[in-house]
Amino acid sequence: MATDIKALRRDFPTLAQIVNGHPLVYLDNAATTQKPQLVLDALNHYYRDTNANVHRASHALSGQATRAFEQAREKVARFIHAPSAREIIWTRGTTEAINLVAFSLGRHFLQPGDEILLSTLEHHANIVPWQQAAAATGAVLKVIPLTDSAGLDLAAAERLINKRTKLLAVGHVSNALGQVNPVAELIAMAKTVGAVTMIDGAQAVGHFPVDMQALDCDFYAFSGHKMFAPTGIGVLYGKSEWLEKMPPWQTGGEMIETVSFTHTTFAAPPFKFEAGTPNIAGAIALGAAVDYLAAQDRAALMRYEDILLRQLVDGLSAMADIRVIGRPQAGAVSFVMNSVHPQDLATLLDMQGIAVRTGHHCAMPLMQALGLKNGTVRASLAFYNTDDDVAALLAGIDKARELL
Ligand code: PMP
Repeated sequence: MATDIKALRRDFPTLAQIVNGHPLVYLDNAATTQKPQLVLDALNHYYRDTNANVHRASHALSGQATRAFEQAREKVARFIHAPSAREIIWTRGTTEAINLVAFSLGRHFLQPGDEILLSTLEHHANIVPWQQAAAATGAVLKVIPLTDSAGLDLAAAERLINKRTKLLAVGHVSNALGQVNPVAELIAMAKTVGAVTMIDGAQAVGHFPVDMQALDCDFYAFSGHKMFAPTGIGVLYGKSEWLEKMPPWQTGGEMIETVSFTHTTFAAPPFKFEAGTPNIAGAIALGAAVDYLAAQDRAALMRYEDILLRQLVDGLSAMADIRVIGRPQAGAVSFVMNSVHPQDLATLLDMQGIAVRTGHHCAMPLMQALGLKNGTVRASLAFYNTDDDVAALLAGIDKARELL
């Protein structure tokens, strides 16, 4: 497997570089992943050879661009096992996808006293839009607490879910702690009271296959840039029955059927939710990232990534002055070093070419619940990381300790 990974790494040009005099050790994949050559080529090909606007197919290039753009939508639908490509809406990313639901569904279907159930582990992108929807409608936020081991407390969730619960919005994988949340159980619980279910999949799709028909959630959001595609493109999966009922959230060109100065009729989903010229190149390149992943043995990559994660957690846990936070299961491992500010440690690691992230990881309520006012250092993996990267991080921490 190690040699295969070395071969795969060559697909990612960014990885082969010297940073601060050292070979780059890229451990900030939860923030954004690197891009394979195939994705870079797809971007380049679109702009160089087929650049034209979509859905205005009165000329050849526009027809080509439209076909590639809609094929990418179909690839994404297959990638997440959605029943139909009409349930795939292009967005700028996870944040925009959640905002779309919070504006369109949240502001039109929530009533005063309705409850929106989130968890303590959420990224700000899955908190603030709901807070705003609650403020606009009189709905209230309820929050699933953590267990003692910083997991999501399912028993408490069960107690919190009641007939006022109208919406459940939780992350699939915590970007801060790398924990995989029991979303299937939560979705099942939410369904017993007829609540709408929305999953933030930003940290899941790059690590393991997700299946909309098996999960059976109403909405699922993710970002291209965290699964080896460019920034500025993301996806909202939504069940047709909801997309048909929901009003548009942004209006203008592309999303209409007919317009007069007195009345507009809207296009059918997904176009109803895609006002204006979309990120055509980004969508096509996300399709290329899906192709890239589909060509890999994902089960083998998952096993490999899991072994690396265990090595990283074990190596960190063996250090007396390091505390790993929670129980990392996918991608991210958060830790703190006794009496050392996370930013100081990260700076010393950066000097050695090791890229990690520090701070609250856009999860301030979580950091507060864990009593981590300075946040954590987060090392986050992708399948192209190696045991050399893990060893470099552990050695880098030893070196930093000497310098501190
Ligand atoms: N949710 C989670 C769990 C995330 O990790 C992120 C990105 N850090 C987001 C939402 C927001 O994604 P984006 O910035 O791509 O919209």
